[in-house]
Amino acid sequence: MNNLNKTLHAARFAAEKHTGHFRKGSKREPYINHPIEVANLIANVALIDDEDILAAALLHDTVEDCEVSPDEMTEKFGQAVTDYVLEVTDDKSLPKKTRKMLQIEHAPHLSYGAKVIKLADKISNVRDVIASPAEGWDKQRRQEYVQWAMSVVEGLRGSSDQLDELFDEVVALANEKLDEID
Ligand code: ZN
Repeated sequence: MNNLNKTLHAARFAAEKHTGHFRKGSKREPYINHPIEVANLIANVALIDDEDILAAALLHDTVEDCEVSPDEMTEKFGQAVTDYVLEVTDDKSLPKKTRKMLQIEHAPHLSYGAKVIKLADKISNVRDVIASPAEGWDKQRRQEYVQWAMSVVEGLRGSSDQLDELFDEVVALANEKLDEID
């Protein structure tokens, strides 16, 4: 498979697996908008054209949220893609607090590809927390989310200057918006 074909195959597969899923936010966007945004940031902001990283970006939430098995993923997309996805997959058997702490701890030890995916993921999520916050997420909860994302990103820096910069811009904008809320 060439570069583009593998990426499109991953997009189609992720779209099928996320069918009926929506983002948590008030806009109720189809979930697939999120992995597409993550892959797009990697391709068009970080200017990375590695097919395995792009495919893994599109698939990054399918093991965690859609019960796709690593074996199925490897069969369709190869071991490198599965490895990236598993690196950014939380162990859902752990309590949420532990999972969030482990993301901070693991970030500096991720591979280059996984770092880039996680960084783009955090950009997309922080944008959403501001543009389309989940119901019941008050100012404090949103501030805590942004703070936590910043702690994770501390461990990811250096993998893409463009994404590092964009993350800082998105956080600055988020804080500005949050300051406007009393
Ligand atoms: Zn994600």
